[in-house]
Amino acid sequence: MRPVPFDYADPATVAEVCEVMHRYGGEAAVLAGGQTLVAQLNSRVRRPAMVVDLRRVAGLREVTVDRGILIIGAGVTQRAVEQHPDTPAVLREALARVGHVPTRNRGTLGGSLAFGDPQGELPTTVLALDARVRVASVRGERVLAVADLWSGPFRTALASDELITAVEVPLPEDSRWAFEQRDFRRHGKATAVAGFSSGRLVLALGGVGTRPLLVDDELLAGRSPEAVGSAVRELVVPAGPDPYVSTGHRRQLAATATTAALHRVLTTTPVENS
Ligand SMILES: Cc1cc2nc3c(=O)[nH]c(=O)nc-3n(C[C@H](O)[C@H](O)[C@H](O)COP(=O)(O)OP(=O)(O)OC[C@H]3O[C@@H](n4cnc5c(N)ncnc54)[C@H](O)[C@@H]3O)c2cc1C
Repeated sequence: MRPVPFDYADPATVAEVCEVMHRYGGEAAVLAGGQTLVAQLNSRVRRPAMVVDLRRVAGLREVTVDRGILIIGAGVTQRAVEQHPDTPAVLREALARVGHVPTRNRGTLGGSLAFGDPQGELPTTVLALDARVRVASVRGERVLAVADLWSGPFRTALASDELITAVEVPLPEDSRWAFEQRDFRRHGKATAVAGFSSGRLVLALGGVGTRPLLVDDELLAGRSPEAVGSAVRELVVPAGPDPYVSTGHRRQLAATATTAALHRVLTTTPVENS
């Protein structure tokens, strides 16, 4: 196969990245760890006019804590997040399920959120944690709740020239969390992240539809873990035809993951980040 030609830039600052992305509009593709993008370029699924490499960009690879918020640069590798002492235990648990060590050594948190896989462990977990993304463009910076980030499967609400620069994860002291996943030969998986945070029960589901889903408080109120598991079956509406997992089986995966996560979170003592 003949190579598909595209221009390549490896800017050193966020401002330079934004300038190139603005100039190329939807024709530019950001290269973070390349774990998804390189395969897309190889298979011609993506044919950008410009690839903008984030490798040299200063400031995207830092992890800091500021006033109870963990701020993870978009270019920090999944492995580095997994090994960071301030990463919440539930996020570490989710990361351990993403690909394998070589992919996590290169793949980034920002790249996973931008990719927006509705089955992805990281989107579901940061949704439960009420995370935000910092976004930059030539028009300036804005902060977006991850609940508003995904507009559909593998689609985000970002403009074509916007760059995720960091992910903000709140670290409330009085929270406890549980991550549970059930999969069908790794081809189809349902994830439930349950938590008790600031006096409120939280449940996020992945692999149940076109994007990760935050379950309404009303569905959780006064119900046993088994009853919530049963109720979430109705929320499972696959994004499209699935050659691997039937809708009925996916509903079963979501139900059992939900029940297990809620049992765990309701029976653990209120400690987190350990
Ligand atoms: C073998 C294998 C197994 C995997 N298994 C899993 C799995 O089990 N679960 C899972 O969730 N994922 C899995 N992945 C995907 C993996 O998590 C990738 O890390 C993820 O897709 C992001 O990759 P990346 O950071 O290298 O981003 P890239 O591949 O470089 O980019 C991915 C997309 O995001 C865009 N992008 C990247 N960074 C930014 C940014 N800062 N701002 C705006 N847009 C950006 C790119 O333009 C591109 O469209 C797997 C990948 C491989 C190769």
